[in-house]
Amino acid sequence: MSPGAAVLSHEDLRGVSHSSFAQLLPDDTTSFTVRSPIDGQVVGTLRETGTEEAVSIADQAGSAFGQWRTLPARQRAEYLLAWAGRIISCTELMAALITLESGKTAAEARAEIRYAADFARLSAEEISREAGIILPAPSDTVSREVGWQALGPILSITPWNFPAALVLRSSAPALAAGCTVVLKPAEQTPLTASLLQQLWEETGAPTGTFTVIPTTYPGTVVAAAMNSGIFRKLTFTGSQATGTALYMQAAQHLMRVSMELGGNAPFIIFEDADLDQAVQELLRCKFRINGQNCTAVNRVYVHHTVTAELEEKLRAAYESLRLGDPRHPEVNVGPVINTAAAEKIRGLVQDAQAQGAQLLCGGSVDGRYVEPSLLRGVEDSMRLFQEEIFGPVLGLSVFETEEEVLHRANRVDVGLAGYLCTSDAARAHRVAEHLECGIVGVNNGAPTGDASIPFGGTKKSGIGRSGGRWGVLEYMETQFRHFER
Ligand code: NAP
Repeated sequence: MSPGAAVLSHEDLRGVSHSSFAQLLPDDTTSFTVRSPIDGQVVGTLRETGTEEAVSIADQAGSAFGQWRTLPARQRAEYLLAWAGRIISCTELMAALITLESGKTAAEARAEIRYAADFARLSAEEISREAGIILPAPSDTVSREVGWQALGPILSITPWNFPAALVLRSSAPALAAGCTVVLKPAEQTPLTASLLQQLWEETGAPTGTFTVIPTTYPGTVVAAAMNSGIFRKLTFTGSQATGTALYMQAAQHLMRVSMELGGNAPFIIFEDADLDQAVQELLRCKFRINGQNCTAVNRVYVHHTVTAELEEKLRAAYESLRLGDPRHPEVNVGPVINTAAAEKIRGLVQDAQAQGAQLLCGGSVDGRYVEPSLLRGVEDSMRLFQEEIFGPVLGLSVFETEEEVLHRANRVDVGLAGYLCTSDAARAHRVAEHLECGIVGVNNGAPTGDASIPFGGTKKSGIGRSGGRWGVLEYMETQFRHFER
């Protein structure tokens, strides 16, 4: 396949790697078509997973768990390292697929593949050195230790904005810990997920350890899988609305949950900030994946003494943004995922304007293509600051004191990421410690593209952490052992 081609042919997919990708292609009427947000062209077609099949895949994950959990951790780690290697060796094709499915630029897609593979590599490293502890004995006839066990089969559900990284972020630590995984990918990006399953199988890992269930009937298929009673945990990444509904469903089976949900990140620019750096970090924070990143800045708070200068610098920086087909190397802002998302963003901008905010740049929407936009005079009460924008729009609001801005930054019920720019080290620590969110970037708008850090939110942004040792611990159950002589 030539990178940038809009349609993957059967031949292209067979060339991806060496075995069975073609089996994923349609063989009957129960298939669905994946279309690219870039131009609406067909990217590929996949077989729907039926409810009976979902239950039988869940059964298979349950059976595979018995063997997988007992393999020495170092052996499981070897499979994960082999997976990472295969993913990296497939970079060019997978990056083209990610771009076609999600609309992100080729550079972003390549970076995502490195990030994704790192979850496999790091989970392998973490599990290889995870040890229990010996507790002090209460008498000389007793010894006591604390160890751990793999949690059990895991059901993972992922969104479309990181079609590879979020699959690995949930699956790799679970597999490392000895859990088996059934993963329902987003219906916009199932081909990338299916390719990842194929690469996993090519490592020789036992059948049923990692299986993808593509479907356009998420509610029915996921409910059937959950009702099988096989899964011990649900790991969900996506919107707060879906996460809340699934949390209630999981409760009926007393399943553990990890939830990685949306945010509403504040970005505070103090009067002592390096404004050139602040502009650069602001753009980095906002324009990855065309503004559709859960940690993207959603509310910009600027100290009143530097507002005019910052606006001028931002306007100049916007000139470097090129909206268009993300397969072209000079384009750095592509489409949003669908027209409904574009219309939602248009509505947020119009609502802010109707309430007095002024548009400084952009403002137009053409199908899925939203022009990078900048508004000033945005108030906390406006929808633009209340809702997750998930698109290439920045709204600016003025503040006067540190106390005021902290209060305003924290006055939302979500808390995934928060950012601040300042040259005062004491202020940096003080404000970072008081921001109510799981991730803080100081003079840095993109601190999270690293699989070794604990990623996750406070308040309604989520439950649990992904990445590094924290991610692996999410899939382990503590066991206390008491031995009497
Ligand atoms: P979404 O609508 O909640 O979808 C996420 C996943 O849930 C998809 O696989 C979707 O399947 C599935 N789903 C939808 N309804 C379901 C149901 N009734 N039962 C079972 N599964 C169901 O989220 P989205 O709009 O695609 O993703 C964007 C959101 O995710 C944003 O809020 C963003 O901030 C958040 N996000 C958070 C993180 C994080 O790490 N905190 C990372 C990325 C994204 P279909 O595709 O078939 O609808």
